[in-house]
Amino acid sequence: MTVKYFLRTFGCRVNQCETDELRAQLAAKGCLPAVSLAEADLCLVNTCAVTRDADREALKFLRRVTRENPQARLVVTGCLVERAASSVRQIAPRASLIENDRKKALCEILELPHLKPQPVERDRARAFLKIQDGCDGSCSYCVVPLVRPRLKCLAAETAERKVEGFVAEGVCEIVLCGIRLGRYRDGATDLVGLLKRLILLPGTFRLRLSSLEIGEASDDLALLIASSKGKICPHLHLPLQSGSDVVLRRMNRPYTASDFANRVEALHRRIPSLAIFTDIIVGFPAETDSEFQEGLDFARGLGLRGLHVFSYSLRDGTRAASMPDQIPPRVIHERLKAWRELDHSLRQTHAQEAMGQEREIVLLKTGSKALTEDFLTVRLEGVSAPGLQRIRLQAANLACRDEKIPV
Ligand code: SF4
Repeated sequence: MTVKYFLRTFGCRVNQCETDELRAQLAAKGCLPAVSLAEADLCLVNTCAVTRDADREALKFLRRVTRENPQARLVVTGCLVERAASSVRQIAPRASLIENDRKKALCEILELPHLKPQPVERDRARAFLKIQDGCDGSCSYCVVPLVRPRLKCLAAETAERKVEGFVAEGVCEIVLCGIRLGRYRDGATDLVGLLKRLILLPGTFRLRLSSLEIGEASDDLALLIASSKGKICPHLHLPLQSGSDVVLRRMNRPYTASDFANRVEALHRRIPSLAIFTDIIVGFPAETDSEFQEGLDFARGLGLRGLHVFSYSLRDGTRAASMPDQIPPRVIHERLKAWRELDHSLRQTHAQEAMGQEREIVLLKTGSKALTEDFLTVRLEGVSAPGLQRIRLQAANLACRDEKIPV
């Protein structure tokens, strides 16, 4: 009998890539996606543990599964299994727990019957390819090295075959993901070397890089992006976390604010239109009002295009968890507001400066929105065909007319 599965993912791009792999494994065994949780025979939850909220959300969802479909076979995987298996067991004592390293063997572990393979259900326009996993860093707030400590990279040849496979399916944007993408290495091939190989593959597609550490955003990388004729999106996500040197030291981040600014300036010298986004942690332990303000002023002057703002989340087992002067939620909330205002104004500027200019877009899942190479989300007037297309951006609210200029 065909197994119907319900799959829920929490967390980062890497976890989402791993969910795509789980989906592919299930499809290869003839399993079909269930329309709802209630009709599923198998419920898979791929958890995240990066923040307290991530823990809470995953555990809340597990409670919902046990309440709404107690008959389903429940499988829990992801970082929460690595970090807090006992919390999972308390809610779902009968669940099968699968650690990150064993995700690849899902179907063997579950001893699923082998039925006629099904096509894999996923976004046809954009795909995510995990080329690196693990972090051995020592940022004082971060649990990732505790749950994914081993650095692993996809062989360059395998990455080439995967990209070819995506392109053959009609995917036109492939996002390369990793926990420490800049640490990619396969023998003598580093990230820049891999990109050089991938952009030579035939077909109409472009590559985008997910998050990179500032020290990994090298001049060589910028030169390659600049000379790639649009094959690599001119968009980088470089986590800053704080713009105050004192806070950066407490976070144990391996750069100062001026190192960060100098690198951003060097990248912009090579590609003036490079769209750089960043992550900010708000309310790190002992962050004073003046350190918060210093960080905000610093970020404002960097020429960034947008921020991903997170409130600091205390994680047991990290050094920051035992630091004195944890910041009260009320103060974090106030500071978050200021950071979000800055984010909004940076994105507005980015959008306004792009008006009247041409961009190459890829359709998003909804079909009515698309993504530009420099990470603007645009709303399309009318229906657009799949594939990469050039359009002219038309209005400051990012609504735009689809001109269907073939690439
Ligand atoms: S670099 Fe730092 S923040 Fe990023 S995953 Fe590694 S330890 Fe965590």
